[in-house]
Order: sequence, then C-alpha cells, then structure tokens
Amino acid sequence: MDPSAEMFLSELNAEHLKLHRAFEEAYWLFKMGDHDVKDAMNDAEKARDAFRTDARNLERVRAAISAATSPKEIERLRIWEDFFKLYQTPAELMPLKAKIGKLESDIGQKLATAKEGYIDPHTNAFVPASKVAMRMMMRTNHDEAVRKACFDAFEKMATLALEEYVAVVGLRNEFARALGFEDYYAYHVHMSEGMAKERIFKLFSEIYECTKYGLEHIRKLEAERMPGLRKPWNFNYMMAGSFTLEENPYYDFADALMRWGRSFAALGIDFRGGTLQLDLLQRDGKYNSGFCHYPDLVHFENGKRYPGAANFTCNVVYGQPGAGEQGHKTLFHEGGHAADRLASEQEETCLNSEWPPASIAWTETQSQFMETMFSSIEWRTRYAKNKEGLPYPLDLFERTVRKLRIVAPTSLYSIMFVSEFEKLVYETEDLDAEKVMRIAKDMRRKYMDHSEDSLFALSVPHIYSSEHSAYYHAYGLAFLAIEQWRDYFYEKYGHIVDNPSVGKEMREVWKLGSLKTFAEFVKLATGKELSADAYIKDATMDADAYLARGKERIARLASVPEWNGPVRLNAVIKMVHGKETVADTSASFEAMAEKYASWLNAQKRQV
Ligand SMILES: [Zn+2]
Repeated sequence: MDPSAEMFLSELNAEHLKLHRAFEEAYWLFKMGDHDVKDAMNDAEKARDAFRTDARNLERVRAAISAATSPKEIERLRIWEDFFKLYQTPAELMPLKAKIGKLESDIGQKLATAKEGYIDPHTNAFVPASKVAMRMMMRTNHDEAVRKACFDAFEKMATLALEEYVAVVGLRNEFARALGFEDYYAYHVHMSEGMAKERIFKLFSEIYECTKYGLEHIRKLEAERMPGLRKPWNFNYMMAGSFTLEENPYYDFADALMRWGRSFAALGIDFRGGTLQLDLLQRDGKYNSGFCHYPDLVHFENGKRYPGAANFTCNVVYGQPGAGEQGHKTLFHEGGHAADRLASEQEETCLNSEWPPASIAWTETQSQFMETMFSSIEWRTRYAKNKEGLPYPLDLFERTVRKLRIVAPTSLYSIMFVSEFEKLVYETEDLDAEKVMRIAKDMRRKYMDHSEDSLFALSVPHIYSSEHSAYYHAYGLAFLAIEQWRDYFYEKYGHIVDNPSVGKEMREVWKLGSLKTFAEFVKLATGKELSADAYIKDATMDADAYLARGKERIARLASVPEWNGPVRLNAVIKMVHGKETVADTSASFEAMAEKYASWLNAQKRQV
C-alpha cells in the first residue's frame, strides 16, 4: 500500500476513534446519573459530528481515491467515502443541529429528574416509585385501584415535555427537509437502514392485515370470560400477571449472571478480548431504558487488532416480582449486541460502532436473537431453576401457552404502534400539542384496542432523542429476520440452545461489522430474501401446534450435553453500580458472579 494512503487511513481511523470515545464516555456518565457532564457531553458530540459532516474530509478521501493505485487501498477508502457522504451536512445547518441537541438534552434532564410516583388510591398520599417499578406494578399488583393509580401517573407524566417535543419535531423536520428529505422519518430510515419508509410500512400493513383478527379474539374473550380485560391497567395483569408471579422463583436475578455466562459459553460466544461494563440496577436519576454502547471500538494499528469495549445497562428493581426475568433478558439482549460489535474484523472503525452505516435492524437482530433463545421453552427447562433446583415446569408452559397464545398475532403491535405514531407525527402539518395527543390516542386504539384512551406513546423514551427517534420499526424488522434465522438453524441443526455451530455461524457474519445493509445481511445469514413469512407462520400458530413444537424442541435438547466447563468469554467484565465497581472477572467469571450475587442480596429492595 502507498505509504501516504496508509498514513491517511490510519489518521482517519485514529481521529474517528478518539472523537467517538470522548462522546461515548461522557454519554455513559450522563445516562448513569452524573448530570454535571452534560456540557462536556454536548461539546464532545458536536466535535464528533463536525468530523463526520466535514466536507473537507470527503474531499480528502476522494482525492486519495484518485491517487490510489491498489484495489485494496481503493476499497478501504470507499468505505470512508460512503461514511462521509452519509453524514454530509452543509455548514449552515450546524447551528440548527446544535439547537436540536441543546433542546434534547434539556428534555432528557427534565424527564430524568422529574418526580416519579403515583397517588395512593386509599390514602391520597404521593408514593415515590420509578417508571420501571410502576410498569411492573401494573402487571402484578392485585389491587386494581393501585394499578389504575400507576396508569394515571403515566398519563400525567406523558405530557411533561410535550411542548418541547412539538418544538423538537419541528426542528428535526426542518433539518431533514434542508437535506432534501420529505421529513425526519424518511431521513432517519435512509441513514440507519438504507431503506425507504414506504417499504417498511408496506411490510407492517401486510402483517397487520394478516393478524388483526387477534384483536377481535381479545374482544370476544373480554365479553365472554374476562370482563374489564381491555382496561389498560388490567390487560397485562389479567393476561400475564399471575404467570409473572408464578414464574418469578425460576428467575432469581442473583442467578442471572451465571446462567448467561454458561449459556453464552456453550454457544461459543467470544468477546475477542473486549471489556464489558454492566450497570443493571435501578437508581434515581439513571436513564429509564436499557442500552448497549461502545466507548471503545475494535480498531487496528499497524495491522494489529485491538479489542473494543461495551457498556450496558438496565433498570432491575431487585426483589420486585418480574424484575429477575427482566434482568436476565437484558443480559441476553445487550450481551448479544456486545458479542456482535466486539467480534468485528473490520479495519475501518466507522464499521465497528452502533452508528450509521450500522443497520439498527441488523444489530437488533443479534440482541433479540439471544433474547428469543432465552425465552424459548427449551432454554427455560434447562437453565431456569428455582431455589430447590427444580426446572421451569412443563405444566406452567402449557398453561401460559393455552392462555397467552391469543395475543401472539398481535405480538408486533407494540412496535408497529410507536412506529406509526412517529411516522404520523413527522408527517402532520402545523403540528401542535393537541394534534400530538390525538395521534397518540388514535394509534393506541388501533394497535392495543384498549377500552380507555392513553398517551402512552409519549412515555416511550426513544421519541425524545434524534438518534433514537424514527427507528422503532427496526425492532420489528429484526423480528422478521430472527424468525427467518431461527427457522434456518432449526432446519439445519435441529436446535439452537447450547449449539456451538449456531455461535460459529453468527460469529462469521459478525466479523463483517457494518459492511452490508440489513437486507444483504439477512440474505447472507439465512440464505433467503427478507420476508414476513417466518414471522407470520409463528405468530398465527395455534396453541396445540405451538405446544407440540415446544415439546419436540425440549426432547431434542435432551441429547445435547449441558455446559460444564468454566465460563471463558474472552472478556474483561466489570459489574458496576454508578461509579462503584461491585465485582469483576480478575479472578474468574464464576468468582465475579458469586460476589455480585452476594452484593445483590445485601441491597435493600429499592422501589
Ligand atoms: Zn437492543
């Protein structure tokens, strides 16, 4: 390689890595509750954005391409050309971008520091409780008045930043239109998936048409056997609440780390020497939603590979019914994200982050694949054991399937609901607070068909940040890909849980980082074009067929040996709580899990 091109490429990579790291480090601190870093975070974000949007960088790359002689050199430079092209923002739009960033961080702080809690229906006293805790209470609390009080609290909090939301939607649209897009939704779909929004919503409306009979079945169930089912504070409680309580003993959060470690080890997951930092418990002032970000990216210097780092978080309220399962899920979900990005073999750091050209749908496919594996009945009967060592009972599986299969056709509706809400918000002319509330209520009716209106769409944290707004559809696209991929693996190997061949195939595609688009990756991984077929087949399967399939899968797993070796994921893992390190893998994964479990047990229940 021509030394000047090589020098230029390492300069680009080093600069990108440095700017990425500076922002991500501040972002993590801010989201974990240190709001003093807000200005530093905004400055670091501006510096990173300035690099990506700088027209001179694009010109330099293009000049280097014209001077380049080797195909390898040109290939590497083209990746950067595409990257800079994707982010080009005329200088005159930068003040607008900064204005959006400022408004969003004000909203973020307002929401994070808002007093959260509900009015006790019996004493009329305010009871402090986090959103996560209240959501869980709506699912499991036996007192309908308390569940309704939590619902009312959500409705009230939903409008806390409504005026700011209307303003920021207007600014985001102004920004997207200046770049030639019809609105911010169209712009963001182009950035994150290289797709047109029409294609996504066409797919969603096909699914809706094939599955909306599910809502009729639920109405019928309410009329015939479960009065009050469609009240929003009753639905999850009446459908799944008692199961959440019954399943709870099988998901002690203190056991979660070991199960996750063994399960990932059996699958052959390898973090390639990376560092993982996990902050899993709920805390005041902490961001209200799980995520995985990468302060350090996989990168190369003089041909040598350096591992990346992943931070991930969730909001487990330790001891609260249902929280243990939620914590398990996060480990599988966010751990799947980390396994994907940290396995990259790409030399260009712009292909190793979570930001575009990364496809959100593709990265979500990895995390939700792991989550789906965790939720499978064969995983549960092998790993989810109670204090007496008894595995998740088959009879409980049968009862949950017989009762809950009725909601399977609508399983993507919570995703399609947020997606269409946002699509309409961005498309509405002369948007104001009234119109936003109208759309929120209409979409809630369309997809949830509850008997009362709700502004729940405004409680979805994603809508308040530019990066995460207009991307909920990616979760839906991911589900289509997951069902397609699972079908492929079951057909080829007969089982997924504890199957190193599955891990091996996944690692092969993970090596490519963000080199391909979502649709290309799906084809590469599953051998077929992306379609909704596998998803619809699964969603519309009746209880008998679903049970029979589950039992076959349990029987198949019986012939697969359990993982008995030590857990070695090739990672440095730190369990943290804010700025405190609780346990790490310096001795071993097993020692870390044990220390974390005893720390957990020493924690007071925080609701
Ligand atoms: Zn995710």
